Amino acid sequence: MTPPAPGSGQIDTLPPLREVIERHGLAARKSLGQNFLLDLNLTARIAREAGDLTGCDVVEIGPGPGGLTRALLAGGARRVVAVERDERCLPALAEIAAHYPGRLEVIHGDALATDLAGLVEPGARIVANLPYNIATPLLVGWLTVADWPPFYASMTLMFQREVAQRIVANANDDAYGRLGVIANWRCTTRIAFDIPPRAFTPAPKVTSSVVCLQPRPQPLDCRTAMLEKVTAAAFGQRRKMLRQSLKVLGGQALLEKAGIDGQRRAETLEIDEFVALARLIQ
Ligand code: SAM
Repeated sequence: MTPPAPGSGQIDTLPPLREVIERHGLAARKSLGQNFLLDLNLTARIAREAGDLTGCDVVEIGPGPGGLTRALLAGGARRVVAVERDERCLPALAEIAAHYPGRLEVIHGDALATDLAGLVEPGARIVANLPYNIATPLLVGWLTVADWPPFYASMTLMFQREVAQRIVANANDDAYGRLGVIANWRCTTRIAFDIPPRAFTPAPKVTSSVVCLQPRPQPLDCRTAMLEKVTAAAFGQRRKMLRQSLKVLGGQALLEKAGIDGQRRAETLEIDEFVALARLIQ
């Protein structure tokens, strides 16, 4: 592999992404949530947010024409396992694999139906510009895996900004809801930076944000299904007092056992209070 010329500003000697897209006829498909990042400096910035990749396995969902994939490999990842649904992208990805022998494995399939844990060494990093239409179900799936600590050491993921704000939200934030409780129960979360629509091809309608999630070694102990049950009931009627919204789960009596005022609303409850309720109903 020939390294890029020093001072060239390039991350590798593969052709520019615009050329790759044209040559392989990769016109973006809305149904697959395809908004491609063609600026390799930007994909390199996302890869850097994932930390030192040297010696790491990385899982990428939706490599598309491979802009982020190239940044991950140039950034030193030992191996990238990339799951892509669109078979039109496979020849372009095969060229990247040939450029980095033995380091890129492309799986043609649906990420929602792929068992990632079985594909990588423990301690892998998940890094992706996610297809927006399945971004939240993918994240919830990774946050609620049965084995904890999970198979991944970190997640560095791009979402629409509104979803990113829900992931990092705390009690009393406008965006606080079920997603924020599950995410912050199991991980520390932060928004690293925003990316404007014009950085993508085609440009989406909204701003995107890169979110970093780091698994907590020992999240407060409770069963995921029970925590989901409590948050679904509480936020399902978020304007109501908890003694009303949690009626089916025990209402006022349950709240008293947890030492929580039944007149409070869901958005005021801290994560440890949701966990206390989940433990009482399990
Ligand atoms: N990583 C590329 C980039 O940053 O330019 C493409 C990102 S694009 C937002 C999302 C990618 O996910 C597309 O390549 C799309 O084909 C792929 N995709 C959509 N649904 C998928 C699924 N269910 N499983 C795997 N990949 C999927």
